[in-house]
Amino acid sequence: MDIKSLPLNELTEYIVDKGFPAFRAKQLYTWLHKKLIRDAEEMTNIPKDMRKMLSEDIVTLTLAKKLESAIDGTKKYVFMLSDGNVIESVFMSYKHGYSVCISSQAGCRMGCRFCASTLLGLSRNLTVSEMLDQIYYIERDTGMRISNVVVMGTGEPLDNYDNLCTFIKMLSDENGLNISQRNITVSSCGLVPEIRRLADEHFTITFALSLHAATDEKRRELMPIAKRYSLSEVLDACMYYFNETGRRITFEYSLVAGENDSVSDAKELIKLLKNYPCHVNLIPVNPIKERQYKRSDKNSVRRFKELLETNGINATVRRSMGKDIDAACGQLRKAHIDSSKGGTKDSTKGGSSDGSKDDSLDSSSDRLKHSTKDGSKDSLK
Ligand code: SF4
Repeated sequence: MDIKSLPLNELTEYIVDKGFPAFRAKQLYTWLHKKLIRDAEEMTNIPKDMRKMLSEDIVTLTLAKKLESAIDGTKKYVFMLSDGNVIESVFMSYKHGYSVCISSQAGCRMGCRFCASTLLGLSRNLTVSEMLDQIYYIERDTGMRISNVVVMGTGEPLDNYDNLCTFIKMLSDENGLNISQRNITVSSCGLVPEIRRLADEHFTITFALSLHAATDEKRRELMPIAKRYSLSEVLDACMYYFNETGRRITFEYSLVAGENDSVSDAKELIKLLKNYPCHVNLIPVNPIKERQYKRSDKNSVRRFKELLETNGINATVRRSMGKDIDAACGQLRKAHIDSSKGGTKDSTKGGSSDGSKDDSLDSSSDRLKHSTKDGSKDSLK
């Protein structure tokens, strides 16, 4: 049993079932989610027989690689999962605190053209404990209190919906790290039914939509999900999210030179978002070698931002972090898989029960046809 994936009520049931008193569950939960232990033997107030029983039940990530930026202290982690899959996470230091960007899936089946994370397809969903442990490992490693979490790494979080919701509840649980839901951001490429479901959960998290284009035609070129849901359906779902939660939507817009960064693109975006309660995060893409997308130059970025602002749309340009350590999202993971003699069985095939190339939104011919552009982790969702 992966006990680190169990919320306190379920952990209590499990412990009582095993013949231990219920109060032990709370102690155990504190060790796992507040003191962030990695080994049952560290739990000094838990009886030995219980520690022994639990010794195989505590899932932890294994560090495969770590890079640190000499420019801004950004740290990138590649973690190995117990089945050999690999994922990556990023630690960033800001004026307002320390932030971790985590992965929600090993790989991704969404096929966004500019993204390295999807190049090998989806291997599988991450468990709740695998999502939590990225933060726990990094908090222990850096010795810093993590105050912000963004679910914007490899994977489409809403494609791993149930685990995502349990993760949010446990991360914001006062018996655990107690990170305010307002400091948790979930980013999606736009799965309409799941956006509406998420709204109905009434979390107070920030929801970010990967928009990247202001017309259906352009968006379909960049993101296969746009073939399934039109912009008007996605924006309706976002408005529903705002109405249900009172939380303003963040729209992520990756700026790709010559693709979506012209004055007319900005005007289309203004038309689309005028009077919409939102914030636009502009992200000059980080090129990846498998694609030929180029980053917009500084003047185009400035012009785009000014146009939005003079038309009443709140916009910021995302600062690029960890430039010297190959910041493009999904790149480190892919490089690790490529270098490990074909990688893990699942991750190289991109196939599993959760979805795979067969299940992908992107056909391989489509993928080849469009394999001309790029983006980065920082830039994508
Ligand atoms: S941008 Fe996000 S949803 Fe799109 S392929 Fe990359 S990881 Fe998946």
